[in-house]
Formats: sequence, structure tokens, C-alpha cells
Amino acid sequence: THLSAADYIRSHIRTVPDWPVAGVQFRDITPLLSNPRVFRVLIDQFVHRYFDERPTAIAGLDARGFIIGSVLAYELGVGFIPIRKKGKLPFTTVAESYELEYGSATVEIHADAVKPGERIVLIDDLVATGGTMLAGARLLQRLGAELIECGAIVDLPELGGSAKLRAAGLPLFSLLDFD
Ligand code: AMP
Repeated sequence: THLSAADYIRSHIRTVPDWPVAGVQFRDITPLLSNPRVFRVLIDQFVHRYFDERPTAIAGLDARGFIIGSVLAYELGVGFIPIRKKGKLPFTTVAESYELEYGSATVEIHADAVKPGERIVLIDDLVATGGTMLAGARLLQRLGAELIECGAIVDLPELGGSAKLRAAGLPLFSLLDFD
């Protein structure tokens, strides 16, 4: 059979309807992680994308961005920067808040996480409205990072996140889309 890497990866994403609330189709990546062959294909997609680009660090968004981002950083031989949900990082932090459908959310980064001249790729599992990725990108830029691009396994283009990122000058590289 001739299954593309994207289709191979897609076939190991589980859709859970109406979770965490009615109307949401949750794209669950845990089957991608539990299968070592698919996990390797997944990570290799990002390694190939960024090998020549030579980022100086990979940043990842809490929590599924940590799983992909830290393995990618290890494979590229660079450091990993966690961007966490509010209240989790122990040292001095910088915060960025963004609007959700109901209420708002805040992400934080350690104030000393970015060294001068650093070139960073920001990773999460999925982009929906783009609010999380954009907030993480703003934190990195506020600390002086050059953001190479944002990377995700899944884009949900109908929710407008990738267009919003593009409009902010932050291109999104995604492995696959869901309608
Ligand atoms: P957003 O900020 O709207 O782009 O939402 C993206 C963040 O929420 C990511 O960290 C995703 O892990 C999570 N997320 C949003 N929608 C979904 C979905 N349908 N399936 C899985 N994760 C989602």
C-alpha cells in the first residue's frame, strides 16, 4: 500500500465527538504516541522540516506541545522551552492572556527562557482558533526571540487559526487538516 506519511498519521488520530463539550470534535493524539512506528514517523516529519533551518531552541505549549516539542528538540540537539498554563512556572514569569469562547486563558514563560539572538520554532499538537499559538508566539517575541514558524500536527482551518497566524506574520506548518 502507498499511504502518505500524513495519511498514516491521520489514521492514528482518534476523533471523540462532543468532548469536552457538545459540538466539539476532539482530535485525540494518544494513539499516535502509543504506537512507536507512527510516533517515529510523526517526529521525523518535524525533524526533516527543521534540520536545515537550524533553530537554536524549540518551544512547546502546555501540555501536548511538550510531548512533540521536547522529542524534536532532543533530535535536533537543541534546548526545549516550555510555555505553561498560568501558575505552573516557579521563577519570574511573563504572561499573555487571550480570549476563549467563554472567558479567557493565560500562558506564561520564564522571563530568562530566551537567550539573545535565539531562533525558535513553537510547537503544539493542534491549532483551532489560533489563540493559544498566537499567545505563545507573542511571549517568545516579547523576550526577543526570532520566531521561525509555528508547527502543529493538526490544523482546523475552518476555525480560522492558521489564517489569523498568517495575518500576524507567523506562518503555520501543519502535517494535516481536519474540516
Ligand atoms: P486554539 O487556541 O483555539 O487554537 O486551541 C488550540 C489548543 O486547544 C491546543 O493546545 C489544542 O490541544 C486544544 N484544542 C482545541 N481544539 C481542539 C480539538 N478539537 N481537538 C483537540 N485539541 C483541541
